[in-house]
Amino acid sequence: MRHIAIIGSGPAGYYTAEAAQKLWGDDVRIDIFDMLPVPYGLIRFGVAPDHQSIKGVSRRYEKTALNENVRFIGNINIGEDVTVPELQQLYDSVVLATGAPNDRELTIPGADLGNVIGSAAFVGWYNGHPKFADLNPDLSGKHAVVIGMGNVALDVARILAKTEREFEGADIVAHALDALREAKIETVTIVGRRGPHQIMMTPKELGELGALERASPRVDQSDLPDEAEDALLEPGLRKSVTHLRSFAAIPEDIHAEKPIEIAFDMFASPSEVVGDGAVTALRVERTVVETGRAVGTGEFYDIPADLVVSCIGYRTSPIPDVPFDERMGRFANDEGRILPGIYCVGWARRGPSGTIGTNRPDGNSVVELIREDMDAGVLGRADKAGRDGLDALAAERALDIVTFRDWKKIEQAEEAAAREGAPREKFVDIESMIKARS
Ligand code: NAP
Repeated sequence: MRHIAIIGSGPAGYYTAEAAQKLWGDDVRIDIFDMLPVPYGLIRFGVAPDHQSIKGVSRRYEKTALNENVRFIGNINIGEDVTVPELQQLYDSVVLATGAPNDRELTIPGADLGNVIGSAAFVGWYNGHPKFADLNPDLSGKHAVVIGMGNVALDVARILAKTEREFEGADIVAHALDALREAKIETVTIVGRRGPHQIMMTPKELGELGALERASPRVDQSDLPDEAEDALLEPGLRKSVTHLRSFAAIPEDIHAEKPIEIAFDMFASPSEVVGDGAVTALRVERTVVETGRAVGTGEFYDIPADLVVSCIGYRTSPIPDVPFDERMGRFANDEGRILPGIYCVGWARRGPSGTIGTNRPDGNSVVELIREDMDAGVLGRADKAGRDGLDALAAERALDIVTFRDWKKIEQAEEAAAREGAPREKFVDIESMIKARS
């Protein structure tokens, strides 16, 4: 029997379990750990609440989860409640699928001023992550600035701009919906240090900005390169740039009909957050792009800001006893192998890039690595205790494990509490989640 521990129950974790299950069938036992009592990681806490069709992929993970050879072990913090070396004693291989839950830090002066928020916290807040449920961002100012030209920046800008009606069918948590209802934001400025040909936004997501009820996207025509140059772009990026061109062509009378403006401020590198206690502006330096890099021109200007959300990427959380690559913000690994017997997959392996689907081939390849190491006989004893050993350890330490069956009760309670038209009302604190299973 092969025993595999997977840490993290998001897409990378479940695709790895699916691949292992497919390869070894009844000859494998897989335990999927999560520090929270609820599964699915990024699907629940990262994917925007108004993107329900993307969240539908969790049904596929549930199929894997319901397999008898696969267990969900929620509410256990690996590295604290149980260490990785302890797991290595119990399982043939340990796979870290912990994602990248921490913000890449904004390191400019003033970044610690009030109402300057990282996307991990802001997204966690509107998605009901227990760690960020109490964030309470101040949305009473007129001007929001979102730093970054990726899909997370788009999510944040769109969520700030949507009307309550546009959240119909979304699982945005009540505290965020209440706060957004009272918000006074009139401008959302998306700041990018490079230009239209360097955006990371994908076409479908960017296109959504053009169809908002009360907000219109504004792009400065003079930021756009000569249209002929678009031909050199890869097709996805070319489509995204086409959206920017159509936003630049929106006539003033259409802008005037919409009370919220989502303005793109490109070639603008953040240099300082200005304010006294709380933020009042983001100071940026005008840039030019030279061989793909943003180069400062020495010209600075201030963008008014009552709220700044920095969406500039993520880092993995280190785990005690596991080699970590500080510079890259992920586990030190060679194509997913950290050491024989310890592996990483998904964002914990490659950093925060790609789509949810990218994690599927990632899961297959990490399982291939495990197979290679097993075949090579480098994983030590073949008679590890696996799940029985884990259960004994959990009992000894009085750890309160949340099972998949428990999760289904929590899920039922969330569905029962949903406001009209919404799929669920999430519990936003661990205590309520645990209470709901009984
Ligand atoms: P991202 O796509 O890597 O974009 C990060 C942005 O931050 C880039 O525009 C980058 O600019 C900018 N940036 C980085 N450091 C900066 C700094 N110091 N100052 C100013 N700007 C800075 O990351 P993301 O938006 O966090 O997305 C992460 C992953 O999740 C991506 O693969 C994304 O596609 C995916 N995602 C997908 C969806 C969806 O499909 N609906 C939704 C959300 C996220 P430079 O390029 O100049 O470095």
